[in-house]
Amino acid sequence: MSCCNQPGLISVDEAVNMLLAAVDTLTDYETVPLLNAINQYLAQPVYAQMDSPAWDNSAMDGYAINFKSFHQDQPFTLVGKAFAGHPYKSTVEHGQCVRIMTGAPIPGGTDTVVMQEKAQEVSPGKITFSGTVTQGDHIRVQGEDIKQGKLLFPVKHKCSATNIGFMAAQGIPKVSVYRKLKVGLISTGDELKPLGATLNMGDIYDSNRYMLLALLAKIGCDVHDFGIVADDPRLLRETLIEAREMCDVIITSGGVSVGEADYIKDIISELGELHLWKVAIKPGKPFAYGKLSQTLFLGLPGNPVSALVTFYKLALPAITKMQGGDYQPPMHLSANITHDLRKRPGRAEYIRACYTTNNKGELMVTSTGLQGSGIMSSLTDANCFIVLDDVQGSVSSGEQVKVELFQPPLL
Ligand code: AMP
Ligand code: MG
Repeated sequence: MSCCNQPGLISVDEAVNMLLAAVDTLTDYETVPLLNAINQYLAQPVYAQMDSPAWDNSAMDGYAINFKSFHQDQPFTLVGKAFAGHPYKSTVEHGQCVRIMTGAPIPGGTDTVVMQEKAQEVSPGKITFSGTVTQGDHIRVQGEDIKQGKLLFPVKHKCSATNIGFMAAQGIPKVSVYRKLKVGLISTGDELKPLGATLNMGDIYDSNRYMLLALLAKIGCDVHDFGIVADDPRLLRETLIEAREMCDVIITSGGVSVGEADYIKDIISELGELHLWKVAIKPGKPFAYGKLSQTLFLGLPGNPVSALVTFYKLALPAITKMQGGDYQPPMHLSANITHDLRKRPGRAEYIRACYTTNNKGELMVTSTGLQGSGIMSSLTDANCFIVLDDVQGSVSSGEQVKVELFQPPLL
C-alpha cells in the first residue's frame, strides 16, 4: 500500500481505515452515577422513564380558568393559588379562577392560563381579563416533550452535559457506559525535563506529555502517566513491557523518526508487531502504529505540532472506536484563502489557520504563520486547518480551499 506521490507512504484516509479495522470496541462496561457519564459512551440504550412534562402545567404566571367560562369583562371569582411544587387540589368550578405560577400543575376543571398582564382585580377576589384569550393558552401539555418509553439515547451515544441534564429530568440516577480506556503515556528523549525542573543547555520542557494528558482527560480516558523515558533502549523496553500489561493503548511521543536515538520502532518490532510507519501527512510523517500483544501502540513524532496533528487525525479515530464511539469523518468547508501557499504534491498538509467571514458573509481563511512542526504559536492562534490533499500543489490567493474547523478535544 502506498500513496500516489510518495512511494512507501500511505494516505491519511488509508491510515485511519487501517487503524479502525485493527481495533475493537471495549467489551466491558460499568454502571456509573449519571454525572460520571460525561464524555463517556453508552453501553446500553436509555429510555424515557416518564412523560415529560409529567402533568399539564403552567408556562406562565397568571390565572387558570375554564375557557368556557370566559366572557370579556365578566369577573371570575378567585378561589386559590397554585405554585410550582404546591398544586391547587380542589376542582375549579364555572366562573372561578386560580392564581397560578409557572410550573404549577393545571388545576382540575381548568384548561387555559391567562397571563397576569391581562388580568385586573376589579374588586377584592374578582378578576377580569382583557385582550385575546384562546383555549389552551400557556399550558405545557403532559408528554409534549417526551413520551414514557421513548428511546432517549442509543448505545454508543456520547453523553454531553445537556444529555446529562435531560436524563436527570427523567430521574435517571445511573447509566451503563463502556469502561474508561486505559491509556499509557510515555514521553521519550534525553533532552526532556518535567515542569519545575531547571533546564541545562540543550534541555527542553516536555510539553507533549502535558498537552496529551490534557487531551486524554478531555476525552475521558483513564491515563497512566509513565513520565519521561530517556533515549535508552533498555529503559524504553522495560517501560513498554510494563505499559503493555496495564493498558489498552500506549501512546509515545518522540523517538520514531530516523535519528540515531530513535529506538522505538525497533523495540516495538522486537516486542510485538510494527504495522505502520510513516504516513503521507505534514506535519507528522513518522507516525507509527503497532501491537504489543493485545495493546495498541501509537507512536507520535516528537515535534509538538506533529504530535498534536497525528494524535488528532490518526490516533483519535481508533481511540474513539475503542471507547465505544463511532468515528465521524471530518466535515470540510470551503473557504477563500487570503494569500498564496506553496506546496509540493506528496503529502496531505494540515496548515494551522484562522477562519473569519468578510463583509459579504463569505468564509475566508488565513494561515496563522510559520508552519514548522515545532512552531507552537501558530497552533495556539489557529481555529482550523487548511487541508491540502496529498496530490495537491501550491494554491494562490483567492482560491477556494478545504477547511477543517477544530473540533473537540482541540477546542
Ligand atoms: P524526535 O521525534 O524524538 O526526533 O523529536 C523531534 C523534536 O521534538 C525534537 O526537537 C525534540 O526535542 C522534540 N520533542 C520530542 N519530544 C518532545 C516532548 N515531549 N515535548 C516537546 N518537544 C519534544
Ligand atoms: Mg527524541
